[in-house]
Amino acid sequence: MTGTIRKVNAQKILDSRGNATIEVRVYTKDVVASACAPSGASVGRFEVRAFPEGGVDASIEMVNKISSKLKGLNVEEQNVVDSVIHEFDGTKQFEKLGGNAAIATSIAVAKAAALEKNVRLCEHIADGRLRLPFPLSNIIGGGVHTKGDSIDFQEFLVVPLGAKKFRDAAVANVMVHKEVARILTSQRPHYVFGRNDEGAWAAPLTIKEALEVLSNAAQKVEGELGIEVKIGVDAAASELWIENEKVYVYRKEKCKKSTSQQLDYVLSLIEEYDIFYFEDPFGEEDFEAFAKLNKNVSGRCLVTGDDLTVTNKERLKTALERGSVSSIIVKPNQVGTLTDVKETVTLALSNNVVPVASHRSGETCDSALAHIAVGLKCPIIKIGIMGSERMAKINELIRLEDEMGLRMAKPPFSDS
Ligand code: PEP
Ligand code: MG
Repeated sequence: MTGTIRKVNAQKILDSRGNATIEVRVYTKDVVASACAPSGASVGRFEVRAFPEGGVDASIEMVNKISSKLKGLNVEEQNVVDSVIHEFDGTKQFEKLGGNAAIATSIAVAKAAALEKNVRLCEHIADGRLRLPFPLSNIIGGGVHTKGDSIDFQEFLVVPLGAKKFRDAAVANVMVHKEVARILTSQRPHYVFGRNDEGAWAAPLTIKEALEVLSNAAQKVEGELGIEVKIGVDAAASELWIENEKVYVYRKEKCKKSTSQQLDYVLSLIEEYDIFYFEDPFGEEDFEAFAKLNKNVSGRCLVTGDDLTVTNKERLKTALERGSVSSIIVKPNQVGTLTDVKETVTLALSNNVVPVASHRSGETCDSALAHIAVGLKCPIIKIGIMGSERMAKINELIRLEDEMGLRMAKPPFSDS
């Protein structure tokens, strides 16, 4: 029968950091589809486990075993496939199969179904009208994605919310990236600047200096293109939190902050730099501090959960009950199957929480994330702007815009 799975297997490949990851292939009579899984560096404690004990090799063994359970199922039946993946693993955190093998299998099945029907992946997974997301791009980087005495916050981002076309939005982000380099080299002519794991600039800056440079670059590009460019931050604050001292430790800035000082600090940054997007301002267990911030900046700054919510429906429910977030990061390999991702995004959208489809710091050139963002109606996609593994998603969205004539999503906080 068409679409019947004949075999599933896997291969060890390298990600953009040169670390081992997994690629899974699904075979039917007529098509072969493959999907690759990315890897994080600032991994949330509540994410599923990327790989089982024994790493990628052990995961590949498991994929060989799950092959016989998936054989005979139809690639059209994503829910059935995903529940077999869950049953096979039998643990909440995908400790046996590994979340990376789970998500790569799940996405490869969806790609096979799209190939069978001769439609694009985004069309296959969508229900309803397709829209293009705004690209949220990491321009200056610190934290665990950057070597050396890096900035305490992990990411300084831009999102060109005024763009009417995805291509223009991508160009705006590239221009900000170039303008930041111009400003930095003119300020510090004797330094050599490099790029970090996500292609963002690694620079010897304090948090406020980074925000200053980013704001100036964004304003310049805004003036040149006539497109509103907003700025954002991912503090990745779980990486700063020291549980037994109950403080956030800023190693570069040589200071410590209690939770209430962290709240005041984040609020002051949002005010001073007109920050539109703030991800993980507090540690991964602090739903309450998130809620206090969210209440304060409601309607003007997205308070986004990443390590807090880990693309998990149950954790999102807790965040909704407490009013902790107005936005969540959606990283498919944090949760393990496409069905789980879909359920989390649907719950977010039905509660006016903005889902942000997101890359990982260690990526591959798989462009499925672009289709997931479009298909699941995420108004924002966080993918970086430099490096072939980030460009693979950017260029896929440019192709979808050109070939399908898709329009941009509605920007958050707008009525347009
Ligand atoms: C992030 O924290 O948003 C991120 C992309 O980092 P990682 O992939 O390292 O978790
Ligand atoms: Mg994050």
